Amino acid sequence: MKLRIHRRTGQIGWSILEVSTDKTRIMFDCGANLPVLDDRQYEDTVEIPGLTRGKSAFDALFIAHYHFDHCGLMDQINGDIPVYAGSETKEVLGIVSDFVSSPPVAARIQVMEPGFPIQIGDIRVLPVAVRHSALGAMMFLIESGKRKVLYAGDFGDLDIVDYGAMAGVDVMVCEGTNINSPGSVYEQDLEFAASRVMKSTPSNVFVLCQTANIDRIESIYNACGRSGRTLAVDPFTKAVTDRISSINISSAIGFTPNLINEAKSSRTDKYILEGKMKFDSVIDIAKRRDLVCLVRTTLGDFLRLLYRNNKDSISGGTLIYSIWDGYKRAKPVQDFLLLCESCGMKITDLNASGHAARSQMETAISHVRPRAIVPIHTESVNEFRALHNNVVSLREKESFDVEFRIDDKWTLPS
Ligand SMILES: [Zn+2]
Repeated sequence: MKLRIHRRTGQIGWSILEVSTDKTRIMFDCGANLPVLDDRQYEDTVEIPGLTRGKSAFDALFIAHYHFDHCGLMDQINGDIPVYAGSETKEVLGIVSDFVSSPPVAARIQVMEPGFPIQIGDIRVLPVAVRHSALGAMMFLIESGKRKVLYAGDFGDLDIVDYGAMAGVDVMVCEGTNINSPGSVYEQDLEFAASRVMKSTPSNVFVLCQTANIDRIESIYNACGRSGRTLAVDPFTKAVTDRISSINISSAIGFTPNLINEAKSSRTDKYILEGKMKFDSVIDIAKRRDLVCLVRTTLGDFLRLLYRNNKDSISGGTLIYSIWDGYKRAKPVQDFLLLCESCGMKITDLNASGHAARSQMETAISHVRPRAIVPIHTESVNEFRALHNNVVSLREKESFDVEFRIDDKWTLPS
């Protein structure tokens, strides 16, 4: 088996990993560059012969989860390459393309289930469920002949992982987003901290978080209950919450980011109707001070309209910044934070990462006992050397031959 990382290992985002044999070529993830976040002006183009252009040379594409840095290039993949992903990923990508009227990429996804292997040529792929800030996230145990590779995708809490089949793999392709964080903040701690912020804020509270981070939405909803506030969500967040999760946000209200309470389009009608939620307009929202509104960087106009309708609905409020700190390097995030400040809001950082902290990575590595680790999705490749004594740092597009580069006699030191 050979591995090849098609985009840089030393950067968070852009995950595109090729695993091949003489007979079979499979791509795992097709991630877009992260810092652009949801800036619609940005176009991330990737040219991989046989995947995005020319005669197709890949037998399948597997998607670990619905985050943009793992699937953001789906619309550029040749149409005849089979795509596999979990049901939640298919559902979320379907909702996204309906709301932003982008190509319906979800329709081509074949649903895979954790624990059920898929045979592609002479490669067997076993999806394994992991906990991450995306519901239904998976890692992949990839086998051919007597070789095994674990592509760990993104992973956080490891309490649901069954390590049985993956112990002693030849190579673990391992993310290291939080390799420099000694410990984790947990959702429950975040919930308590958020409720304290809500209690001490004299006007509305806004939470910048990922729309499909169901654990976070639940924590914020619970914090609203603790602080006597009401959660407010836009139609997109409501659709995602209804379709992919079992959380109950029944006392939440809906808002449209517009002056009229019209949220429908031909592609979003079905979600609005089945959600049975009434959506208030900016005019109604601007009259209140007791709300906690979930927002995204694309909702800047919603904040401007609130400010214009009633300055006090936003001035004196708080923005809880509840996404990865590294996003602050992205222009859309910088612009959004500047806007919040100029509207008189206070910004408070409060996040619990969906990525494993260093101690959790150590636990995972000690269970998996890989003969070698290939870092991916990290800005600190060299930090991996403290966790394992056979770290293989691949350059962009460099091929790693598992047959020749792994010594069968090599074992993890005790
Ligand atoms: Zn992710």
